[in-house]
Amino acid sequence: MRYIAQVSSTIDGWSTRHSVLAMARRAAALINSLDADRPDPGDIADVLRAHGEPGGIELTTCDVDGMRAAAALLREVFAAETADSAARHLNRLLAEHTGPLRLTSHGGGSPWHPHLDHDDDAPWDEWFLASSCMALTVLVWEHQRPPGRICSSPSCRNAFISQGSGPERRYCSRRCATRERVSAHRRSRSVEQSGGTR
Ligand SMILES: [Zn+2]
Repeated sequence: MRYIAQVSSTIDGWSTRHSVLAMARRAAALINSLDADRPDPGDIADVLRAHGEPGGIELTTCDVDGMRAAAALLREVFAAETADSAARHLNRLLAEHTGPLRLTSHGGGSPWHPHLDHDDDAPWDEWFLASSCMALTVLVWEHQRPPGRICSSPSCRNAFISQGSGPERRYCSRRCATRERVSAHRRSRSVEQSGGTR
């Protein structure tokens, strides 16, 4: 089902799209899109395409329901605040929801790479959970830190990958960081003002 159109792509381009960090970022983007009340299968397909999944993606509402359940499980890994806790959550998911580690080249359409789903034609929810667990596991291994976070803004539930270039972030986006900075500033001014009237 997947990677069929990639026979002609170079190995370099392939590794960029499928680097562990790219897979982990795709997991976070899917978790956030699937958090909507009734996510539109077309929107989820767009997120997959935006993260390098080749065209011809056909998702049903049933697929999306399964992916939502997977997203809820993965969210626990993003909420973990220590490497130990992230590892415990991942170990449970790996024991209960993924298959044994195997190598696939998708019938020669891609370089050999590891998968944790049971088959190249696994349903979307199984593929999403397995590929996300794989990426998050490697990130914990590599950095000995939780692989991601949930945005610190109380009005946002976005998961994001906190590893990569730059300092560790508390917010999922510049927008959330700005909103929280402005409201912290307002709070401190109102404390100053109420202090002044006493
Ligand atoms: Zn946010």
